[in-house]
Amino acid sequence: MNRARILSTHEIVMADTLFKLYPNYKELEFVCIDEKCSVRMAPSCIKKRERRKPHFKKYRNKEHIETCEYATLNELYQKGKGGKLNKTQINKIGYPSVFNLNEDNSEAEAKKTSQARNNDDEGVTGRGGITKVYEFDGENLKFDRKNRVQSIDRIVDWYLGFPYNRDVEIEINGKKIPYKFFFKRIEGHTEPSTLQNDRIFYGRIMLSETNQNVFEKYSDSVFFTLLGFKDKSKNEIHNYSNYSIKIDKKSISKSILSKLKNKYNALFKEAFTDFKNELNETNVGLYVFVYGSIDEINDTILNVKQHHITFRYDEVRKTMNEI
Ligand SMILES: [Zn+2]
Repeated sequence: MNRARILSTHEIVMADTLFKLYPNYKELEFVCIDEKCSVRMAPSCIKKRERRKPHFKKYRNKEHIETCEYATLNELYQKGKGGKLNKTQINKIGYPSVFNLNEDNSEAEAKKTSQARNNDDEGVTGRGGITKVYEFDGENLKFDRKNRVQSIDRIVDWYLGFPYNRDVEIEINGKKIPYKFFFKRIEGHTEPSTLQNDRIFYGRIMLSETNQNVFEKYSDSVFFTLLGFKDKSKNEIHNYSNYSIKIDKKSISKSILSKLKNKYNALFKEAFTDFKNELNETNVGLYVFVYGSIDEINDTILNVKQHHITFRYDEVRKTMNEI
């Protein structure tokens, strides 16, 4: 389990950021985040360089209560990684089935900013007595079964977490599309002609200095360079050019931009350090996910629509089709 609650403060913490936030975590007492359950949990593999991902586990002689919502969900999450979930199980977890794009005007922007504290998409949920907001991250939303979302975080989480269930549909601008067709991967040699329509494009970010401190490089935009590339004509000196993702700084509020920056910088640092120390796992990469469209002038640039961009240092599994 990736999350637990600190008994004394009720703060919900994630195992993979525990060491960073609480270097003295051994002095703390952790319990299950379902308040009715509250079984004692122990942090495990919290420091980096252990084979398993950081997580919380219950003590051997203690059990979650039978109705523990978190334990039930956690089981389904594990199951979803290895096989297809049925309808009942899917409903239990809940997934975003409607992507509400905000109107593209300053009024919506102002509203968004002022509501940021209690925006449904940013991590507050009242279910199961979970009230504490932790950080700007889809990880908080495991108990949130709302099907309408205004950011792509939970959409990406579903895509990553349930490779066998990408046949479920998401509605956008009144149209429904299965998850597996709503996402388009950019890897290796990719033709710009395959990158049409507004969708969630994603690809691995190049782990090099090019992508360091990208938020400070230009005053009006931010660029991330991907590993995926487009071939150019043979007589040009560099016969390929990498795709890049572009954020227009003016289209995003300062607070959202700063949250994106913090998240990106932390993940980039971790991934780049692992890469330099040859500790990176081959299947795991630093990925950017963006809802957007290809630039009209330069077809190797993908423009982010509003704030619809997120990052993961993770494995993106292939879509699994089961009959
Ligand atoms: Zn529990």
